[in-house]
Amino acid sequence: MPAQELILGYVLLLLGALALLTVFTEMRRRRFEPPAAQDRIFRCSACKRVYTDDPDVDLSRCPDCGRFNPPYEF
Ligand SMILES: [Zn+2]
Repeated sequence: MPAQELILGYVLLLLGALALLTVFTEMRRRRFEPPAAQDRIFRCSACKRVYTDDPDVDLSRCPDCGRFNPPYEF
């Protein structure tokens, strides 16, 4: 029956769109969420880059320009 194939096509399309939406939402959520709690956030005072490093270091080297920075406090 062509009608059934049409419905099946719509359902598959809908499922595909839903899967894509889920992936995009997950990607956006991960990008805007703060980094894992076990990592400290550093902000480079030279190039303003924000990055993370282990919490047991007092000064962390910027991955971009190599400058050492203290932990970033909110
Ligand atoms: Zn830097």
